[in-house]
Amino acid sequence: MTVINRQTIKILDQKESIDSIDNHIDSDHSIIKILNHDLNKIFTDQDDYRNHPDDNHEILWYDQSDINNTYAFVRIGPKSLKRVRRDLRYLRQPPVFVTSNLQSWLDAEHNHHHHQPYSTNQKNNYVIGPSSQTTFHPSGNDIMSSTNIEDNDDEEDEPIYNHNDHSSTMMNARVAGNPIHYSKLVPKFALNRYYPIAQVNRYLEDVANLRSSGITLFTIGYTHENRPIQAIEILNNPNDPNFLWIDGCTHAREWVTVTTALYIIDQAIYSKIPINFIIVPVLNVDGYVYTWTKDRMWRKNRRPYIGSRLSRHSMPERCTGVDLNRNYDINFGGSGSSKNPCSFLYQGPQPFSEPEVRAASDLLSNNRHRIKMTLSLHSFNQLWSCPNAFTTEKTKDHNHHMRVLRSIQQAVRQQNGVIYDIGPLGSKLYLGSGFMMDWIYHKLGIRDAYLVELRDRGFYGFILPADQIWPTATETWAGIQAAIQQIFL
Ligand SMILES: [Zn+2]
Repeated sequence: MTVINRQTIKILDQKESIDSIDNHIDSDHSIIKILNHDLNKIFTDQDDYRNHPDDNHEILWYDQSDINNTYAFVRIGPKSLKRVRRDLRYLRQPPVFVTSNLQSWLDAEHNHHHHQPYSTNQKNNYVIGPSSQTTFHPSGNDIMSSTNIEDNDDEEDEPIYNHNDHSSTMMNARVAGNPIHYSKLVPKFALNRYYPIAQVNRYLEDVANLRSSGITLFTIGYTHENRPIQAIEILNNPNDPNFLWIDGCTHAREWVTVTTALYIIDQAIYSKIPINFIIVPVLNVDGYVYTWTKDRMWRKNRRPYIGSRLSRHSMPERCTGVDLNRNYDINFGGSGSSKNPCSFLYQGPQPFSEPEVRAASDLLSNNRHRIKMTLSLHSFNQLWSCPNAFTTEKTKDHNHHMRVLRSIQQAVRQQNGVIYDIGPLGSKLYLGSGFMMDWIYHKLGIRDAYLVELRDRGFYGFILPADQIWPTATETWAGIQAAIQQIFL
């Protein structure tokens, strides 16, 4: 039985014309569907229309189902909404408000057996919006068990980790029909599934309880809501003082970074590759929990903003939290970050104000002479990147970085045929200040600091279907092995 009642995700299906704009103008935020072409017109005076912090709008999704046009689904605040109304006459098509629910999306997915994630003929708008009080009810057959698990001759059972976890079943619906890929270390743990934090931690504990030596699970610090931030140390080569650091889920909604980190742990231990690792699969634990319980699109951590004299209950929900990847002490407060606590790019009151950032940065700086390479996992965009993020100027190690990135790009492509872009983040994607990667490179003096934006290029965006967990993980591991060849061996 599929009971989808713990997800409070609102996707959108009724459409309202922009004439009803006044109904929305006072609301915290709305979601509109707008021609990408028109979006560019409205936000042209911004440095980066996708992510400008102070304008309080955020692209959730691109819909490419119309072969002639790409639409953007944008979560916008009242200020931007007014701007849309002001510029309405310049637009090729009036934008619409949209609402729907996640269950109808999943049902449509299930019924149509979409297995071509990049197809361009889909009619539904797969938009997942902010939280609401919506409750999802049982919808008949179990999505998992009503579909044959094909091409899966060695396993018959559902992974034990999915028992009683209905929201996990729901979010993993699209993997039905594809083989289950089990952990090489922990029996019955499927690696091509999304998991809530309790099961992530249970996997880590099971790995740590393996009798192989050199595996240590430890807590690097505690989140604002006092949850432990877990790291696993893998000593495959105790004679080598060097480490490769990998972190996932700095941004809560980037779920595929968690599954990829778990796969990397599995492979690093199983393959015995002679490299030592420190891996933090979920840095933003509170935010990750929040994406499973309240708002699938949450990005920041969960520390409430206390600068206002208003009761925090009268602050809009989005004014909670700090963007952890804007909180490091490098060009703090510069381009691509925001002083506005209600922005999803809020940098925080000062560098290292956030407990999650202090936990990671303390460990990194205390071990800076041992850490030879760092990799931060993010999604989405399919980009392997190097410093700088805060400026388009090249670093003195640009040529070295590009050499490493080219070998990564080739290895990634050979794995599943998928092409990732490469280059410095600030010139390839957008400018961002207070980035972990830049801080590691400039302040800790670790030359090989990288950041990867995993799949996809925006068709599904953050809500990447579960059938892409496995290929994303395998190609990322291929890229990491290529980097190791260049940097360690
Ligand atoms: Zn991110």
